[in-house]
Amino acid sequence: MILRDLELGAIAAHILSHAAQQPVYGSWMAEELARHGFVISFGTLYPMLHRMHKQGLLDCTEQRDGSQMRKYYTATVQGKQELQHVQRLIRELYREVVEEAVYQSLEDAEASVAPRGADAC
Ligand SMILES: [Zn+2]
Repeated sequence: MILRDLELGAIAAHILSHAAQQPVYGSWMAEELARHGFVISFGTLYPMLHRMHKQGLLDCTEQRDGSQMRKYYTATVQGKQELQHVQRLIRELYREVVEEAVYQSLEDAEASVAPRGADAC
């Protein structure tokens, strides 16, 4: 994907969304992201979780799960506020880039000719 920053932002939004509902841990989050078609290595995911924790968006508690210790992350109050902000951005982005683009392509199909005097970029 060309817009890797957008993809990473979408992954961060996804993490925040799940962490606002229930505690999440790295390998569960990686599987959940893969289910949505996002491929992310642990070398990218774990630093991202750590960064979001440092930024005050996620709380982190360590718990024993069978034989291993796991870091569980939940959204903080600040994280939940950030999520609301992100939801507004995504809603607006979706309206503009997806819904209006579909409407525009229908109009283009009806017109089916380039406007006169238009130059190629
Ligand atoms: Zn999900």
